[in-house]
Amino acid sequence: MKKALLNIDYTVDFVADNGALTCGKPGQDIEGTIVQLTENFIANGDFVVFAIDTHQKDDNYHPESKLFPPHNIEGTEGRDLFGRLKDVYENNKHNAQVYWMNKTRYSAFAGTDLELKLRERQITEVHLVGVCTDICVLHTAVDAFNKGFKVVVHKEAVASFNQLGHEWALGHFQNSIGAEIR
Ligand code: ZN
Repeated sequence: MKKALLNIDYTVDFVADNGALTCGKPGQDIEGTIVQLTENFIANGDFVVFAIDTHQKDDNYHPESKLFPPHNIEGTEGRDLFGRLKDVYENNKHNAQVYWMNKTRYSAFAGTDLELKLRERQITEVHLVGVCTDICVLHTAVDAFNKGFKVVVHKEAVASFNQLGHEWALGHFQNSIGAEIR
C-alpha cells in the first residue's frame, strides 16, 4: 500500500507564542514528533505534502473572516513553517516527492489538486500530522475518508488550542471514519 504524509498548517501563526491563531504549547510540544515523522517519510521515498493555509489580506469574502482573526496572510512570516520543520522543508524542497501546496479552506482537498496528486501516484493511505486536530486535520480526514483513502492519524503529532476538541476529534477519527490512531 502506497502512502503519503500530509503535513497540515504547522506554521508560525498556528504554533508560535505570538502566532495570530496559535495552539500555543500543545502545538509546540509536537515539534519533535512532526519533524521525525517528516524526515522518516522523506527518507523512505514517500510522498510528503505540506498543505498550508493561505489567506489574502482583507479578504472579507472568505468564510473564515467572520470566525477567526486574520492568519496565514500571504507574504507574511506567519505562513512560515514553525521551528525545525521549516529547516526540514528547506533542505528537501527540491525533492520531487516533497510538495508544497497552498490551501484556502480547512480541508487540504478543498479546491486543490491534492486528490489528483495522490491518485496519479496510486497512493491509498494518508498519514495526517499538524494542527488543529479538530479543524483542519479533522476536515482533511473526513474528506480523505469520503474519497476512500485509508486514514492514519499520528496522535503525538497533532494538536489544538482546544483540548476538548482535540480529544473529541481523536475519538471521531477512530470511531466514525475508521482511522488508525498511532
Ligand atoms: Zn485559515
